[in-house]
Amino acid sequence: MSQRQQRRRPPARKRPANSATSRRGVFRALLERVRPRHCMPCVGLVVLVGAFSVVITPDDPLGFAAPPPQPSLPTVVIDPGHGGNDDGARGHGMREKHLTLDLAMRVEENLKALNFPTHLTRRDDSYVGLSERVSISNRIKDSIFVSLHFNAARQTGISGIETFYARNKDVADDGWQWMGLFSKPEPEILDTGESLAAYIQTALVSKLSAGDRGIKSSDFHVVRRTRAPAVLIEGGFVSNSMEAQLLRNPDYRDRIASAIAEGVAMYQKTRPQPALPVPPDVAER
Ligand SMILES: [Zn+2]
Repeated sequence: MSQRQQRRRPPARKRPANSATSRRGVFRALLERVRPRHCMPCVGLVVLVGAFSVVITPDDPLGFAAPPPQPSLPTVVIDPGHGGNDDGARGHGMREKHLTLDLAMRVEENLKALNFPTHLTRRDDSYVGLSERVSISNRIKDSIFVSLHFNAARQTGISGIETFYARNKDVADDGWQWMGLFSKPEPEILDTGESLAAYIQTALVSKLSAGDRGIKSSDFHVVRRTRAPAVLIEGGFVSNSMEAQLLRNPDYRDRIASAIAEGVAMYQKTRPQPALPVPPDVAER
């Protein structure tokens, strides 16, 4: 088609205004006006402007910007107390080793729902030594250790929940190895687990309306010898008839598990996060 023929066409603005056909018509008319002399430069300009409009738009409406880096969550080592030949506490037809394993599975489920990686020190009715339980935790670089137990007392009136941690950590030498040749690393400043214990105990007492026996420092092997912040929870007395009745109820055990997971999550939120890597040009100054 010659340029003279193109000029005789009716103007694009006389077509219906609201239809897709009219928009196409206007666009075609514009293209025809610029095609003879400026076709390629204009197409290039449109592409260039389009590209920049994506890159420099401040609010990133298309969501092209990378999400900010998220610190990874620590692995929660869940330690069901006793097992195998070691029944633990007994009362009202219940054995502690069964209750702890059942609770461990429920705690794991709750923590997984919160995206925490988990590791159980046992998954069946087998005996795992205390040192092995500690080793499992110390072999994991970033972990939180939660040991699960239930109580018994001769005085059957005693009831309530308590959580232990170790003020004086004495980490077992079976995890990370020192590889230096001429100088020893600075001694580690370890998290005693006191605040972890406080968050878990608070969540347990408020969610279960259980008797609050508080948090206590103890020399229990699994909390003292672990490098991770570690707690040992005594989730009630099987020797107390009222608590035994509650513990027999799976819904109640679910509520214990949910409270423990909530306590771990609350603790994690308040924990100092590892610093993000410094860009090289900043690090050199
Ligand atoms: Zn126990």
